[in-house]
Amino acid sequence: MKEISCKLLVIGAGPGGYVCAIRAGQLGIDTVIVERSKPGGTCLNVGCIPSKALIHAADEFDKVRHMAGDKAMFGIRVQQPTLDLAATMDWKDGIVDRLNLGVTGLLQKAKVKILEGTAKFRDGKTVLVETETGSQIVRAENIVIATGSAPVELPVLPFGGVVLSSADVLSLREVPRKLVVVGGGYIGLELGTAFAKMGAEVTIVEATEQILPHYDAELVKPVVKRLAELGVNVLVGAKAEGLDDQETGLVISDGGENQRTLPADKILVTVGRRPCTEGLGLEELDLDMAGRFVRIDERCRTSMRGIYAIGDVTGEPMLAHRAMAQGEMVADIIAGGRRVWDKRCIPAVCFTDPEVVSAGLSPAEARAQSIDVKIGQFPFSANGRAMTMAAESGFVRIVARADNHLVLGIQAVGSGVSELSSAFALAIEMGARLEDIAGTIHAHPTRSEAFQEAAFKALGHGLHM
Ligand code: FAD
Ligand code: NAD
Repeated sequence: MKEISCKLLVIGAGPGGYVCAIRAGQLGIDTVIVERSKPGGTCLNVGCIPSKALIHAADEFDKVRHMAGDKAMFGIRVQQPTLDLAATMDWKDGIVDRLNLGVTGLLQKAKVKILEGTAKFRDGKTVLVETETGSQIVRAENIVIATGSAPVELPVLPFGGVVLSSADVLSLREVPRKLVVVGGGYIGLELGTAFAKMGAEVTIVEATEQILPHYDAELVKPVVKRLAELGVNVLVGAKAEGLDDQETGLVISDGGENQRTLPADKILVTVGRRPCTEGLGLEELDLDMAGRFVRIDERCRTSMRGIYAIGDVTGEPMLAHRAMAQGEMVADIIAGGRRVWDKRCIPAVCFTDPEVVSAGLSPAEARAQSIDVKIGQFPFSANGRAMTMAAESGFVRIVARADNHLVLGIQAVGSGVSELSSAFALAIEMGARLEDIAGTIHAHPTRSEAFQEAAFKALGHGLHM
């Protein structure tokens, strides 16, 4: 059997793994990365990128549709547009292919050795890789587990036939007439909204009493309103019980005796993700786990020396930018750097309509820590740029300490607010106070002025309200 040795072996080439390997290569570390599928992981192949491509295409189609016939918008009138989902998917696949090549190129440029195959631990320093051309042993001083996550399957609704995972729905060639989405979290709402805009009749079935339960009700309200405008049927406190006998509908209940069937051509199940650890040979190791996830410390070290874990396999928040930041840090640590995970916030963005952003503490989270807070909130309905874009729904909200005005959290809901997320994270990371944001000149006319206005409001003197 072929054997190779290296200083660092990274298992999984998703955003966590490939960033770690690139940075390690740049730092002169002799690095090998193993990937069983395509470079870029979930994010690039069946996650962030393809979903955002589809969401964008759906937005464009919806906009044009609302200019058709006698429904002119901005004075623009168009003929009735049509959507060719197969062509949309081909366009999306083209972007994914380009990025696959891009990641491979970056790894090669950093002199990282890429092994195509499935990795399995033999012990804490040795991994067996099954490739198409046979088995190979890799011995490594350091190993990073970056194997990511996979969709949770409900026992009552196994994937297959009309029951789709998020990966399946991202390769549909036709828009289903009736789409039922089980799970009103990130994926269900982002993709449910996109399919509604593309013409599907969408029903969301959410087990808790609120869609997007990770966000507070005030932030979610504009999303709920827009879903109603799009004709999406939102059912909360609803439990999926399984397919009906003809497999043409989803049986749901209120958790008790009351059951009914929702007709469905396709059922998308998006009820969370589980870590990819099976088949990895973890039983050969003595790793502490945190539930089903790999337990890590503030340096992404596991309980075994020389073994690190990053990204979704380590648990929530399962976000690509967290995985990348962990990957970059771990490469530096392996190169001898003195680094620790000391981030003040990990911004989260939900690409619904309107988009939702949260960085740092919400008002409720701050109060739960017994912090006395000042809150400033500014609506996009009072922002000139938002008016010019017919995007007046939503607001920016800042949460700051009442005593010294240190900004603890910033949230926003509104069209395009995903692009404000970096400004929010930067302010929190740099320890900004309300006066710093209020004192920064924000270019006019931009929607980012709502951020500055929210700071003025928290200071008690809003200018444009
Ligand atoms: P992954 O990206 O899952 O990569 C792990 C890699 O390891 C995979 O390529 C896998 O093939 C490989 N692997 C696993 N086991 C082995 C093995 N034994 N041997 C070899 N290789 C192995 N996050 C955001 O931040 N923003 C978004 O907009 C966003 N949108 C999303 C939309 C959808 C539909 C989905 C499903 C997810 C989305 N996410 C988003 C989440 C994001 O995709 C993940 O947080 C991110 O991909 C995690 O990166 P990772 O490197 O930890 O794992
Ligand atoms: P999620 O945790 O966001 O949402 C799952 C939802 O399903 C929850 O609202 C939950 O209450 C509900 N649920 C659970 N069991 C149910 C059941 N039996 N019936 C009905 N509802 C049920 O999970 P997701 O949408 O699958 O996304 C997985 C992860 O992917 C997220 O945690 C997120 O970190 C990541 N992601 C991020 C983005 C982004 O950053 N924009 C986009 C997509 C996915």
